[in-house]
This record gives sequence, C-alpha cells and structure tokens, in this order.
Amino acid sequence: MSLPPLVSPAAALTVDEVRRYSRHLIIPDVGMTGQKRLKNARVLCVGAGGLGSPALLYLAAAGVGTLGVIDFDVVDESNLQRQIIHGQSDVGRSKAQSAADSIREINPYVNVVVHEERLDSDNAMRVFEPYDLIVDGTDNFATRYLVNDACVLLGKPYAWGSIYRFDGQASVFWAEHGPCYRCLYPEPPPPGMVPSCAEGGVLGVLCASIGSIQVNEAIKVITGIGEPLVGRLMIYDALEMSYRTVQMKKDPECPVCGKEPTITELIDYEEFCGTVSEDAQQAAAGSTISARDLKAMQDRGDDIFLVDVREPNEYEIVSIPGATLIPKGEFLSGAALERLPQDKKVVLHCKSGARSAECLAIVKNAGFADAVHVGGGVLAWISQVDPALPTY
Ligand code: ZN
Repeated sequence: MSLPPLVSPAAALTVDEVRRYSRHLIIPDVGMTGQKRLKNARVLCVGAGGLGSPALLYLAAAGVGTLGVIDFDVVDESNLQRQIIHGQSDVGRSKAQSAADSIREINPYVNVVVHEERLDSDNAMRVFEPYDLIVDGTDNFATRYLVNDACVLLGKPYAWGSIYRFDGQASVFWAEHGPCYRCLYPEPPPPGMVPSCAEGGVLGVLCASIGSIQVNEAIKVITGIGEPLVGRLMIYDALEMSYRTVQMKKDPECPVCGKEPTITELIDYEEFCGTVSEDAQQAAAGSTISARDLKAMQDRGDDIFLVDVREPNEYEIVSIPGATLIPKGEFLSGAALERLPQDKKVVLHCKSGARSAECLAIVKNAGFADAVHVGGGVLAWISQVDPALPTY
C-alpha cells in the first residue's frame, strides 16, 4: 500500500543544502521535491537511547528540518555500548542535550528542539502536537502504550521499533490507514514476564538494524515513496540473519482506534501495565498519600517515620528531606522491620511509587496497619513540592 506524502515541500533549498543532499537529489524517487518535504518535516524522537541514537543521527543527516528529542535521562557509561549518539565525554550529561549537540555537528541546518522531561500522560499531547511524525525509541510498555494512544488521538503516524538480545521488531502505526499498536498487542504482558534490555541485555548493533528501519519508514511516509510498513510487522532475527514481515489487521474492537473507542483521552499507563504486583496494589489501596500530603504532614509536625526504599545511588542523586534510607532489599529479607519504630506512622516512598507499594505490603503484613506510601514517589515530590530538585 502506497500512501500520499505526509509533508508538503519547503519553498526552496539553499545552495549549501543542494550540495549537502546531492546524493538524495539524484535519486529520482526523492529528488528536489522529496528533499524539500524532508526540510519541511517536523519529527520527534521519543528517547535518545538505543533506538533513538541511530534514528536521530540518520534523521539529522537526511535533512529533516525540525528534529525534536525528548529524554529525561542522563548518559551512563553502560549506554555507550549501543547509544552511539553519545560519547565518553557526555557521561553524566543530559541525553537530550548530548543528542542535540551531535545532531548540530552532523547537520547545522537542522532545527533541534530539546525536551528535557519525562514523557507522561500530562505532557504527551502538548509535546507531540507540533510534530508531523513520531519515532518511538522507548524501552518500556507503559511509555509504548502512551505513545500509541497519543498518536492515535492526535491522528499522527509513528515509526515503532523494539529490541531484545538478538531480536527486533518494527512497524509504522497510523490509525488512519492501518492498525495501531493496541490492535497488535491489546494487553501488556503481566508485570515481570518480559525482561527489559537492562535485565536481559541487547546486542548493541541491533539498535542500528531496527533504528535504521524506523528512519527508512519515516522518510518514506514523509515523502510518500515506496510502501511503508503500515499494516505490516517486520521481524528481524540477527542470529539467523532473517527479516520477515507479517500482515497485521486493524481490530474493529480496538479500544483506541476501533469503531467505538473507549479510550478517548490518555490514561494512567503505569497502572494499565500493572508495574506493581497484586499484593502491592491491595496494600496501596486506601493507603496512598500524595507528595503534597506528605509536605503538609511534615509542616504540621506529625509524628511520622519517613523511609526511602530506593538504592543508595538514587538517594545520593536526590532525596526528600528527613527521609531515612532503607533499600527495598532489606524489606524483602525482613531486616528492615526492626528498624521501624512502633510509635510513629511509617511513610514509605521510592522513585515513582512501585517499589514503595511492594514494601508497603510487607510492612502492613508485619502489623504496621497505619503505614502509607507516597504515590508517585520522589518524582511527585519534585513536581508538586520542590521543582528545584533534580529528576533522574
Ligand atoms: Zn488500534
């Protein structure tokens, strides 16, 4: 299935741009008009990580006029095995800023827009709105469903990819012309069932194999050439060295792109993907306070014992004043319980609320009936109480 071009052409290329893009211009299917479409295109890459790195490098080199990067993370040494848009001297820097510098170095004619924030249900529609097309380089199910739903609701196409060890998948989801991610995967896998690349590993070069397919498809959709992967799923096996595509159908019952959609605005994707166990969900029901509630308790001088269940390195990055660090492992082993006072209200928190909910289940089972945890964790504290603190 071929589709009309997504983007109308820019008025003209400069002499410098003609020189730079000459190898595109002499391909009849791309030509001057195709290159002008790329110049006029606004593409957002979600994540400057494994897939985002090669995708952003090639989108920049290809001459996409406006290139957005959204990433809240900082470059870690363990990223450099595959995230080739970053270098040794970028370790510790914002990924979005580091990526923007590399893009400018590759192609100074690209207008780079940096979004140094975590994509969530509150900002996704606003962030996506100005762009023609999204490249999804996320590595977790919650963000994947979020990207999908936001694109469907905004009527935008996106180039999707996913990688694990030696296996990769890619497609173009565009609800107007074909299925969406939910048509393919209506339900997220149960929590803990599918390991992430951080847990299971990924061959570095696999990122380039899949990221380059995403860029290839983005260019085709923007310029209207060839047959984009709309309605087809590309499956790549690096060990067999095989690429195969399977047809995908739109699900008329799809909750977001079907005939009678039930999802008409963005939802809570952490909850949808069940990042916490059932025990934890039960413990947290009715025993979750907001970061603002915690601040009010502190200001009133309530007799509370605030426990940070994250790891020491996270505590070092940012912490809530007055919190005692007792990592989750000590709750699992039982060692934490004897450190909890019997005469104070125990308040647990972690980074985003998942780990503290797990610990809350343990604490409540041990008899601390009035214990609570902070929904959204330290990230909620930063956004609701003290925005001057760093996020990670
Ligand atoms: Zn759908």
